[in-house]
Amino acid sequence: MSEMHSGPEMRFLCDQNLGRLVKWLRILGFDAVYLAFWDDARIRGAIAEGRAVLTRKKAMAAKSGMVYIGEDKVEAQVREVSRVFDLGRTARPFTRCTLCNSVLVGVTRGEAKGRVPEYVYTTQEVFAECPDCRRIYWRGTHFQHAGDVIASLLGQ
Ligand SMILES: [Zn+2]
Repeated sequence: MSEMHSGPEMRFLCDQNLGRLVKWLRILGFDAVYLAFWDDARIRGAIAEGRAVLTRKKAMAAKSGMVYIGEDKVEAQVREVSRVFDLGRTARPFTRCTLCNSVLVGVTRGEAKGRVPEYVYTTQEVFAECPDCRRIYWRGTHFQHAGDVIASLLGQ
């Protein structure tokens, strides 16, 4: 692939059939927005601003700048995108809100108190907050497992 398909600023627009893929791209730290319904103007705008447009519509993918996603299952889709865009090189897992696509901001343990379950507060050290929806994130006991899943998805 060309240079425009790599780099730390990799951003995506996913079509309406790729809702779960959007979430996974955000978990991996990528700016990923979702097209709730097909919108040619928005697709053109996204391409113009340098987003990679991922689609399940094979015929539409022939248009400039769109990438056809052939896989059905989300794990396979992440691997497919990873092969094309070398995601493993620039992924920053757990740095972005999976709901809003906003970059998380670190908060102190004190700031998280009362806003997370008590057992989380007592067992976790590192917290981050979404500046938009105010959801608090932490690296829970599932983190190691999630890390393994991500490493496998990225082919590392
Ligand atoms: Zn959020």
